Amino acid sequence: PTLTIASRSHEYPVYIDQDIRFHTFNLINAQLSHPASAYMIVADKNVADYYLTEVLSSFPESKKPFVSLIPSGESSKTFDMYHQLLTEALENGLDRQSVIIALGGGVTGDLAGFTAATYMRGIQYVQMPTTLLAHDSSVGGKTGINHAHGKNLIGAFHPPAAVIYDSEMLRTLPIQEWRSGFAEVIKHGFIAEPELLDWLERNITDLSHIPSEKINELLERSIRIKAHIVEEDEKEQGVRAYLNFGHTLGHSIEAEVGYGHMTHGEAVAIGMSFALKLSERLLGSKLSYNRILDYMKTLGYSLQIPSGCAHDQLIVRMRRDKKSSHNDINYVLLHSIGQPQLVKVSEEDILRLLEE
Ligand code: NAD
Ligand code: ZN
Repeated sequence: PTLTIASRSHEYPVYIDQDIRFHTFNLINAQLSHPASAYMIVADKNVADYYLTEVLSSFPESKKPFVSLIPSGESSKTFDMYHQLLTEALENGLDRQSVIIALGGGVTGDLAGFTAATYMRGIQYVQMPTTLLAHDSSVGGKTGINHAHGKNLIGAFHPPAAVIYDSEMLRTLPIQEWRSGFAEVIKHGFIAEPELLDWLERNITDLSHIPSEKINELLERSIRIKAHIVEEDEKEQGVRAYLNFGHTLGHSIEAEVGYGHMTHGEAVAIGMSFALKLSERLLGSKLSYNRILDYMKTLGYSLQIPSGCAHDQLIVRMRRDKKSSHNDINYVLLHSIGQPQLVKVSEEDILRLLEE
């Protein structure tokens, strides 16, 4: 494998390469101590149209998976869809020795992972991420669904048995989705590895034309950083909070403009740009961030807060964020690139900078 990730319960391999979807069956079985009794593929409908036949072709006739398709989009991370997957798993005879395979982006991975985490008290599952953003969601073991009261409120820690990342499947990803996932790559650079930012600037100049070897390297570098952080802090008491860089304001903007009107990463990019300015203001950090913000603009990010977002509404949403307390809002700021710190920031300080 390209990488091996340690979780509390087990180690799991991450395979990153071109065209490994054609070897899905063998890669999964190299990983299992006993042969699986049955396989269930949970696939995003869009993704299935492109790649399902190819993934299925790797399975011998006697071991063909049962396939369950889910409509694409965040609206599939619901109790209804979760219930439907459980029912289909039961009706198709999945047992404790069966394996669920998530073929799709973060939505599919979270939903299928949560189904696997709870089906018969937990069965094994494999992530086959097909978006760039899913490099973030497919490692770390967080799975879950949404509730009417908020996103990702119902979930479980359940690390996968393996991650099979076929970079060739990213070829069909729309440009906004590239931008969404790439913001998380940049985030990993900001919180952990300035050299990654230099590498990105030198190697990735156009998100619609990235050579395959560069995609592989990009995925590997960014997953390595995420893996280090979650290995240190699997259940989010300390350093894992740094992954929230850019997300405090980012989540508020995303919710304020309405999910589906802006991608997650595009909102996080605005949040990162704001957090950099806040870091200079409150910590006196010297971050020389203009070059990297200019680079992000050349990739098509708009780093302005959308005109429809009222500043006081953004504050209300930040306050509601589960990571905040009293009149202060927990913010991930940077001392320097690669040196994050969790800081309690007053609402007045945030509002003042928003107003500028
Ligand atoms: P997504 O799964 O909705 O995929 C985005 C869109 O791209 C969808 O329309 C999908 O049909 C399409 N698509 C996917 N792969 C494609 C391909 N190869 N070619 C063409 N189209 C393709 O969204 P996402 O951005 O991958 O993930 C977002 C989700 O991830 C959110 O629900 C978020 O909460 C979750 N998430 C989870 C974690 C975690 O740690 N578990 C971390 C970050 C995000
Ligand atoms: Zn994110």
